[in-house]
Amino acid sequence: MVNQDKQTRLDAIKQQIIEAKVCPDLARQATQLVFGDGNPESEIVFIGEAPGKNEDLQGIPFVGAAGKFLNEMLAMIDLKREDIYITNIVKYRPPDNRDPFPDEKSAFMPYLESQLEVIQPKLVVTLGRHSLNCFLPDLQISQVHGQPKRMRIKRHEPKDELAAAERSDELVLVILPLFHPAAALYNGAMRKTLIDDFALIPAIIEKIKVSQ
Ligand code: URA
Repeated sequence: MVNQDKQTRLDAIKQQIIEAKVCPDLARQATQLVFGDGNPESEIVFIGEAPGKNEDLQGIPFVGAAGKFLNEMLAMIDLKREDIYITNIVKYRPPDNRDPFPDEKSAFMPYLESQLEVIQPKLVVTLGRHSLNCFLPDLQISQVHGQPKRMRIKRHEPKDELAAAERSDELVLVILPLFHPAAALYNGAMRKTLIDDFALIPAIIEKIKVSQ
């Protein structure tokens, strides 16, 4: 059952991105904004890098091959897409699926932080190095994958005043860095590591609940 208030607040953040004209060059080349999908009441938020071709066409994150693999791993821990919330750092598809530029990632950060503030997840799962390094820039995914990190982030200032008005100054998050499913899909060793790390999620959430 979707909490109307949270959904309404998420819709307002989506509208702010459009009104603030975040990354106009990306927006012009993309089919649409890919804001996020799933259950705003979820205890887990997954964060990828940026939409690819299928996501750009459908307006939903992780609906291509990487998304299918992600759905299989969710099923492994008895979760469905409707049980989680999923989004990306950058919310328009970069042309030709190039890596997002640093200024594009920073432009979207305030809005991602607002999404997290509304949802208040127990666990934030970053998928891939871009997503991890937006929160923890000094860590290497190959060294910290599968290890939850509790952190406090000072929030980035959004460009528009409306978005600034309702924000807290800090967010406290538990981040679980995982490899990106697209990178792991065709790499046997990384695939196994990602599946093993994914299997840790239920126990990590239980531990977070006990410590709260
Ligand atoms: N890869 C991502 O990082 N995000 C998507 O939405 C799809 C593929």
